[in-house]
Amino acid sequence: MIKKIEHLGIAVDSIEESLNVYQTLLGAECYKEEQVVSEGVKTAFIRVGESKIELLEATSKDSPIAKFLEKGRQGFHHVAFEVDDIDFEIERLKNEGFQLIHTSAKDGADNKRIAFLHPKSTGGLLVELCQEKIS
Ligand code: ZN
Repeated sequence: MIKKIEHLGIAVDSIEESLNVYQTLLGAECYKEEQVVSEGVKTAFIRVGESKIELLEATSKDSPIAKFLEKGRQGFHHVAFEVDDIDFEIERLKNEGFQLIHTSAKDGADNKRIAFLHPKSTGGLLVELCQEKIS
């Protein structure tokens, strides 16, 4: 089951430069900065009510964020839905004909297991599924 919008991912050239803008805009402090080596990104999270804003900066040239920014603009990158059972949702969406970038869940930032759906199969929207890791 999809529970809620967990966060919105925003691609930025530099977290250092953008963090103040978002902190001021939202009137909230960043509560976590974290690198996800496997995705070639640095992330910073700010809470917005029940959801979050995730700023994403590329740490390598072949990072998906670097490729996104090459197309010319910072800004909205993906929506992340929180699910109660990510393995079940991956199978469900595969069976419904959605194309997945990750066909099994992997470790993401902020203590989550994640998987991305390909925008080709969602009419252009990059969708992340995420589930809190039980630790
Ligand atoms: Zn995300």
